[in-house]
Amino acid sequence: MIEKVRNINQHFSWQTKLVLSGSTAIFFTFFLFSFLEYNTVSKWMLNREEIVVKRTLTDIMTYYKDRPGNLTETDISNSTGILRKMNDKDQLIRVYNQNGKVLVSDKNGTFSVLEPTPVKEKSIEKITEEENEAIIARYPLNIDKFKGTIEIVRELNSYHKMMDHLFMVMSIFGIAAILFSAMSGLLLASQLLKPIRDLAAAMKEIKENGFQERMVGYKEKDELTELSNLFNEMMDEIETSFLQQKQFIEDASHELRTPVSILEGHLSLLNRWGKKNPDILEESLDVSLQEVSKLKNLILNLLELTRAENSSRTMIQEIVDVPEILHQLVRNFEIINPGFKFEMVIKQTIKPISMSEQHLQQILTILLDNAIKYSGENNEIMITASQNEMETILCVEDHGIGISLEEVSKVFNRFYRVDKARNRERGGTGLGLAIAKSLTEKYKGSISIDSQEGKGTKVLIKLPRL
Ligand code: ADP
Repeated sequence: MIEKVRNINQHFSWQTKLVLSGSTAIFFTFFLFSFLEYNTVSKWMLNREEIVVKRTLTDIMTYYKDRPGNLTETDISNSTGILRKMNDKDQLIRVYNQNGKVLVSDKNGTFSVLEPTPVKEKSIEKITEEENEAIIARYPLNIDKFKGTIEIVRELNSYHKMMDHLFMVMSIFGIAAILFSAMSGLLLASQLLKPIRDLAAAMKEIKENGFQERMVGYKEKDELTELSNLFNEMMDEIETSFLQQKQFIEDASHELRTPVSILEGHLSLLNRWGKKNPDILEESLDVSLQEVSKLKNLILNLLELTRAENSSRTMIQEIVDVPEILHQLVRNFEIINPGFKFEMVIKQTIKPISMSEQHLQQILTILLDNAIKYSGENNEIMITASQNEMETILCVEDHGIGISLEEVSKVFNRFYRVDKARNRERGGTGLGLAIAKSLTEKYKGSISIDSQEGKGTKVLIKLPRL
């Protein structure tokens, strides 16, 4: 049985399954309801037939009782008229004496008559004979000296007619209900499954034609249309990320191409002239070494960026003492950049934060490197640290060349450099801020830049507290 249901499940579409299950449920509900109703009506009708029979019997008894004088067999034989008046369609009324001799009888309709059966006690029963059903009621009639039985045989023809009619009406309604439910089920199912079908079609299109395909938007707000909207949003995100990846690869290969071309140029120069000309030899070797170092720097930065973007899985959470890291870094920077003045302001006691110490160092190194690279004439760099209830705020400020308002939002993009050629000379790869942003966001922090061209730049890092 279970195997069978499973087989049905595998072979039919959802639409068919919905229609079938809906119609079956309605059929069974209707069937149960009709069965109960039919039985109740049947019982009620039979009861009514019995009541009518009993009332007629009582009326006849009363008639004989209320007659003046002693009741004799002759009186009973002469009461045909009153029995006819009291009789009904498809009904026999008769009175017989103790010996079963019929004294009076009135019969409406054609049906066979049983042998008279005198009784001592009231009896009422339902009998079935040759597909005919009837109620037979017998009351003893003991008045004065007369002893006999009144008998009523009531054929259940009208009851059967009524029940047949009821059965037919119920069957017609039942079939109509099933047809109606199947039709409305079909309509509802096709309406309900439309977004899913569209989703499948859209997926097929995407498979064949690429990311541009989307599902049609629905005005109605329900669970299934939400699914299609979610699908569209997801596809937008996938497309954006795919395009970003593509752009990244293009940019990266472009960035790699420049130093490699320069190297190639100088190497062929060396090959042709450099062997005999010491000036060319020296210059070309110098330039080549510089380019190799830029290339190395670029590759390292690319690696850092990939690591920063994937570090969520391997993120180490340590308890980091921020002022301690700042002191160490500034000390190192002061040694490497003796021409610069670093000022450090720790505004209050800074409680430790939870992140990888190496990542914090990496972020701050990028910012300090930039501050140095883009300081111009002014060589003062200020580092501030403060903390509020929610976050630790670090700021690296320089008074250098600054960034124009339009460029500020772009400097976090990978490979973006305000002045491409000049910044490349300075050793910039355009990846530093992208790495810093990616790392900060890994710790649910944020990075922002406040800068004025020609006046200086303030980079603000906010990291959530423990
Ligand atoms: P780069 O390796 O070129 O410095 P970044 O991603 O660190 O790459 O910075 C992107 C660009 O933003 C830089 O090329 C530079 O033009 C600009 N920039 C970054 N920091 C500063 C700063 N402190 N002052 C002025 N310009 C800056």
